[in-house]
Amino acid sequence: MILPESEERRALRAAVRTLGEKYGPDYYLGRARSGEKTTELWQAVGALGYLGVHLPVEYGGGGGGIGDLAAVCEELAVAGCPLLLTVVSPAIAGTVISRFGTDEQRQRWLPGLASGELTFAFAITEPDAGSNAHRLTTTGTRDGDQWVLSGQKTFISGVDEADAVLVVGRIRDDDTGRLKPALFVVPTDATGFSATLIETDMVAPAKQFALFFDGVRLSGDALVGSPDAGLIQLFAGLNPERIMAAAFATGTARHALNKAADYARARQVWDVPIGAHQAIAHPLAATHIDVELARLMTHRAAELYDAGDDTGAGEAANMAKYAAAEAAIAAVDHAMQTHGGNGFTTAYGLAAMLVSVRLSRTAPVSREMVLNFVAQHSLGLPRSY
Ligand SMILES: Cc1cc2nc3c(=O)[nH]c(=O)nc-3n(C[C@H](O)[C@H](O)[C@H](O)COP(=O)(O)OP(=O)(O)OC[C@H]3O[C@@H](n4cnc5c(N)ncnc54)[C@H](O)[C@@H]3O)c2cc1C
Repeated sequence: MILPESEERRALRAAVRTLGEKYGPDYYLGRARSGEKTTELWQAVGALGYLGVHLPVEYGGGGGGIGDLAAVCEELAVAGCPLLLTVVSPAIAGTVISRFGTDEQRQRWLPGLASGELTFAFAITEPDAGSNAHRLTTTGTRDGDQWVLSGQKTFISGVDEADAVLVVGRIRDDDTGRLKPALFVVPTDATGFSATLIETDMVAPAKQFALFFDGVRLSGDALVGSPDAGLIQLFAGLNPERIMAAAFATGTARHALNKAADYARARQVWDVPIGAHQAIAHPLAATHIDVELARLMTHRAAELYDAGDDTGAGEAANMAKYAAAEAAIAAVDHAMQTHGGNGFTTAYGLAAMLVSVRLSRTAPVSREMVLNFVAQHSLGLPRSY
């Protein structure tokens, strides 16, 4: 193992991988293709404490860090069962509520998030704002002791499986009159809330939805934590999201490389297995190096986040997500090439993976927006937009 990880983390990885392998890619892709969910796996992961491994012990968690949850996410993907909602529900909603929620909010939401009995979606993307979060228009207005939320979101994953959505909206600042970010918990059965499916060609159990908030009335405590902490909360939630997205991608990459190496050792069309041809072996070896580098950066980002360095974690998490996405896309592409015609078959599942893994270049933050961030913050170049 190249990663400098504790014995405990390694044991966690091994246990999660064993669980994931009990289900495996046939289960995962089978469910996705028949339009079914992977609920039993989610429940099993939750029941064993893996979804709450990073949450405080007093709220039913394991008391670990985001690096532990990233290991859970990664090993499930290595086993062929990448659960997109691990990136959202425990990672974003869990960490934001754990760090910034009131005591009441923590008690209400965290035990369920930790056990997997409660699932949250996360909604920031809007049709007319996209990558530009400054243009968000979903707005919460105070009405007595309630909030009234209006606006819309798009491409929100897992809403049909979620009990609530953590929504990034805006509220008016009493002092300046300006709008500032705020996070709301919106139950999916709230009056005035609706969701419509967005059809995609991705083969994955988690689906995406357009959301509409039509004057949704929420209790006063639907706003997470303090009204003044919205921006800090947002950054605190986006770092874990990027770390998890990186782990999701490197897990997928490792699954694809394992498949490719197995195939290249076994398949023989000349006198030697195809893995003996450097044209097959070298791209796989080079990609393995890129994946391990991305894993190291992900590890570092998690370490910084867990140490409370949100700024340092932000830079490392962006870089990790970028590196992991590019390595994962290359890994699946090379795995397909290794499989020849079999790379296109339903049985091998690689063509389905190609579309899914391609997502990591676009979401949760696009490759271009990461490069903008690194150009500006790491290299001190002028802001380009
Ligand atoms: C399968 C899927 C699941 C998703 N799940 C969620 C979810 O659960 N929650 C959620 O909130 N969102 C989710 N998203 C949304 C996702 O985060 C966005 O699609 C992504 O951030 C890009 O935003 P956009 O689609 O509006 O693209 P746009 O912002 O319209 O960008 C289009 C292109 O222009 C580029 N671009 C834009 N601005 C600049 C710039 N200044 N400089 C250089 N290039 C630029 C982008 O990089 C991109 O390539 C999901 C998306 C998909 C496809």
